[in-house]
Amino acid sequence: MIDFSFTDNQLAVRDMARQLAQKAIIPGIAEFDRAGKLNPDLLPALARANLLGFCIPEEYGGLGMDYISLGLACEELEYGDTSARVILSVHIGLFSLPILTWASEEQKQKYLVPAARGEKTATFGLTEPAAGSDAVGIQCTAAKDGGGYILNGEKMWISLADVADYFLVFAWTDLDKKKKRDHTGISAFIVERAFDGVSTGTIHGKLGVRAGNTGYIAFQDVRVPRENLVYKEGAGFKIAMFCLDQGRYTVAAGSCGLIRACRDACVTYSGERKTFEKYIKEHQLVKQMIANMEAGYRYSSYLWMHAGWLKNQSLRSTRETSLAKWVACREAEAAAANAVQVFGAYGFSDEYPVERFYRNAKGASIYEGTREIHTLMQADYVLGFRQDKALERDLPKVEQ
Ligand SMILES: Cc1cc2nc3c(=O)[nH]c(=O)nc-3n(C[C@H](O)[C@H](O)[C@H](O)COP(=O)(O)OP(=O)(O)OC[C@H]3O[C@@H](n4cnc5c(N)ncnc54)[C@H](O)[C@@H]3O)c2cc1C
Repeated sequence: MIDFSFTDNQLAVRDMARQLAQKAIIPGIAEFDRAGKLNPDLLPALARANLLGFCIPEEYGGLGMDYISLGLACEELEYGDTSARVILSVHIGLFSLPILTWASEEQKQKYLVPAARGEKTATFGLTEPAAGSDAVGIQCTAAKDGGGYILNGEKMWISLADVADYFLVFAWTDLDKKKKRDHTGISAFIVERAFDGVSTGTIHGKLGVRAGNTGYIAFQDVRVPRENLVYKEGAGFKIAMFCLDQGRYTVAAGSCGLIRACRDACVTYSGERKTFEKYIKEHQLVKQMIANMEAGYRYSSYLWMHAGWLKNQSLRSTRETSLAKWVACREAEAAAANAVQVFGAYGFSDEYPVERFYRNAKGASIYEGTREIHTLMQADYVLGFRQDKALERDLPKVEQ
């Protein structure tokens, strides 16, 4: 049986996120984007609306909602601006959901509960100055020292770097394995901003997601207690890939919001602008661009919803999530490029939002797996170089 309907709870989350985008994101976004600053009221507004933990179980401070709700909220927030959806991607997709799956009960009580309640903000630190797609190329190390670890190194391009209280950080705990590029030498740690030796900074001059905070984190002889190792030594790479399966899902759904924003802006503008004594919406080539946006929106939506359906059943969805992310980001880039085109010279100025859509859309073809990485993944599944584990349980039995 295939059921295309949403539950009342899913619709309630969608409507709440839609209202929040209309009231708390869209009105000031042009200004924050121009200033390259995160709206300081946004995180508190998301927390008040319970949007920072709604798909975490109630026993850990959330509302127990499902993955489809998460996707719908991401779509609505990105309709407002990509920077708002990025907060959900890192805080929920790349931190809270992995902590829910892989962390000990003590870690969940200490870190997941305040994150789900929106009292603390969290992010994910995998990328480094010299390693992005090639995650095994990271250089951060966590050397065993007494009852804990000493963390050294730098993370780069980290969303909310200057804002988050908690970082899920990946570092080598086995230097022999590092030399051999054996990923079972990488471990995951929860690092607090408050730990001695942690410093952060913001990257300025970004092409897009300017209203979001993106930066670096430096770790200088940071003492990380043994209790902050997530799951066990050597599981870091696996955990990072699990994180990306959740984060990519939020990017895919969010990109549909961006496509919809392009489509709606074009519907309005093409009904106002006249050339050759006709509204431009009456020209067939303009219609074609708008039709392509609609098609991209629809099939990208079906792809993330299919991935969400698998996730709701705790089924592995690496393949479907990668496909959804790749296609939705590609369609968002195409929709934004066409939106600028529909607006003509006005699309080339920040008087209208479509130039921001265009700059923001580019980012998603880079983060959470570049366009090329997802292209290769999809080819490898089809060619048999990569095993499709669709029927495996996504949530591993983690012994504490
Ligand atoms: C706005 C923004 C927010 C981000 N937030 C985070 C965050 O919160 N946490 C985090 O850890 N990271 C974050 N990142 C980093 C992001 O995940 C990386 O930028 C991404 O993984 C790509 O890595 P890279 O930039 O080092 O590019 P590289 O890996 O150096 O790739 C450069 C180019 O080579 C191509 N390429 C690489 N390998 C192959 C291959 N095998 N075959 C074909 N082509 C290849 C790539 O597709 C790309 O075109 C963010 C990035 C941005 C822009």
